[in-house]
Amino acid sequence: MSRWIEGRVVNNQHWTDQLYSLQVDAEIEGFTAGQFGRLGLDIDEQRVGRPYSFVNAPHEQLLEFYSIIVPDGPLSSRLYRLKPGDKVWVSRKGAGFFTLSLVPEAEYLWMLSTGTALGPYLSILKTPEPWNRFEKIVLVHAVRKVDELTYRATIQSFEEKGPEQFTYIPFVSREDTDFAIKGRVPAAIEDGRLEERANLPLHPDVAHVMICGNPEMVKDTSEVLKARGFTKNSRKESGHITTENYW
Ligand code: FAD
Repeated sequence: MSRWIEGRVVNNQHWTDQLYSLQVDAEIEGFTAGQFGRLGLDIDEQRVGRPYSFVNAPHEQLLEFYSIIVPDGPLSSRLYRLKPGDKVWVSRKGAGFFTLSLVPEAEYLWMLSTGTALGPYLSILKTPEPWNRFEKIVLVHAVRKVDELTYRATIQSFEEKGPEQFTYIPFVSREDTDFAIKGRVPAAIEDGRLEERANLPLHPDVAHVMICGNPEMVKDTSEVLKARGFTKNSRKESGHITTENYW
């Protein structure tokens, strides 16, 4: 049986000249919120496939993927140009371990992302599980420029669903704003700005931290947290930090 299913693009939303969200109709076998699928195109008679986190929840009919054009990247620039009706290959099943089923009990769930790594958290937040399991949920989205703070309407729906339970904290590193934290996530943990903004302690007795995206941010943030007593969570050993690198 082929690992690829033929899908059709239903919509390609261009947020900026680099960021886009593809909605795809494909009868895949299923996935768990937080997992990734693969998108593929046949380029020069070769199938080029890459992993992309699902943004939609498993119960939603259309598959959705949030991506950025990587300069000289073979797939991402072609996906950006796809139009409704175009064919795209999708992996038969979801894969990966960046899911709540591997996250142990905690009072507070911190979801830290850079750029397009916001996606898996949106999928998770569209399911009942995080809302039923955690007293407080903090979603951090770190970008370079304000127009990269995408999915604001979806995030607003989470704020309305749980005004006391859910907090969204944007970070913008290269522009001044009056609403986002300026700079990088690890520095804002070290100097206390993130906890102050969330009005919650970032401590291993009460918190679990998911970190996704740029591997440098994942590594630097993990190190800052380890200095506070957090340990890595894995399938073999329970801990307080669950991570996924995008490259
Ligand atoms: P590639 O040859 O794959 O990449 C070239 C280089 O681009 C990489 O070496 C890296 O330096 C850089 N790069 C890769 N991805 C990114 C990125 N997202 N932001 C900035 N620089 C990057 N990408 C998404 O945009 N959205 C997702 O939901 C997503 N989910 C992923 C899940 C997993 C588990 C992994 C491993 C990767 C994921 N990626 C995601 C990255 C994605 O698979 C591709 O690598 C990316 O779209 C570029 O593809 P490409 O063929 O154009 O270039």
